[in-house]
Amino acid sequence: MTVTKANTTPRIMACPTCKKSIEWSDKYPERPFCSKRCQQIDFGDWAEERNVIAGADVTSGEGTDDFDEWD
Ligand SMILES: [Zn+2]
Repeated sequence: MTVTKANTTPRIMACPTCKKSIEWSDKYPERPFCSKRCQQIDFGDWAEERNVIAGADVTSGEGTDDFDEWD
């Protein structure tokens, strides 16, 4: 069995949260994030987006009054 030694230059990636350059190696176990913190920040963005969608739903709820005219 041939095992490729990690002797070559590791692949460089940009952290999706802070755009910091990280190595695609065991040095960054949270890759593609540079740290656990950035991973959690990305997760928080998701939760925030969901809240925005939920808020928009409440606003559109006011419009349902118009449908009474169709009854
Ligand atoms: Zn980061």
